[in-house]
Amino acid sequence: MDADTLLQYLEFYQDLGVKTLYRYSISVPVETPAPIEETPVPEPLPGLAPTGDSLFQILADIGDCRRCRLNEGRTKLVFGVGNEQAPLVFVGEGPGADEDAQGIPFVGRAGQLLTQMIEGTAQKEGIPLRREDVYICNVVKCRPPGNRTPEPDEMEICGQFLYRQLSAIRPKAICALGGTAARALTGHKEGVTKMRGKWFQWRDLPVMVTYHPSYLLRPYNQSAKREAWEDLKKLLHFVYD
Ligand code: URA
Repeated sequence: MDADTLLQYLEFYQDLGVKTLYRYSISVPVETPAPIEETPVPEPLPGLAPTGDSLFQILADIGDCRRCRLNEGRTKLVFGVGNEQAPLVFVGEGPGADEDAQGIPFVGRAGQLLTQMIEGTAQKEGIPLRREDVYICNVVKCRPPGNRTPEPDEMEICGQFLYRQLSAIRPKAICALGGTAARALTGHKEGVTKMRGKWFQWRDLPVMVTYHPSYLLRPYNQSAKREAWEDLKKLLHFVYD
């Protein structure tokens, strides 16, 4: 591998938030008795987003994914839904029970609220926009057991596919829903209350952070709803004006 390619790999991993890389042991040809076990062949590194990549190809490459433990409890893998050329992509944390059953992101109560937020804010602002005009996906594609937060290794493994989805769509902006998506996309470690309403970046694309709709469903978080609406207003005007 030449230095340029190596640099591209390292930047790719940095974008995914990977701080440490481990080397597979290299077998050196020496005159020893035949090994009892075969030296493991190093697994190839996942490629950079291939040029001409498509959501169809990414889904095909994910296949019947068994790359992390989340496959064990999943009913359906939840890849993403919406317009492949959307100027706006929403990224959540991971599928819940309803999404796992249907294979579609944000279809449960939180999803219904997200739809209302998108369509309601757009309508109020005079922007003709329906849920199907945007693209919606998650950091991890399989439901974490009991809706727990995805583990760093799960996000790292699945991150290569989110990276490819965002690279294939290349929206004008991305909306990170909640702290997990915000941290995964931006690498910032602050809580969502500090990050919301502000612009960050995923590679060269702007990222707006706002509250996760599940958080807004809790009765004691009603004041956050107003803030989320403000965040969406800002985001929609940026993308669609
Ligand atoms: N919460 C998420 O983060 N994603 C979904 O798809 C549903 C609920």
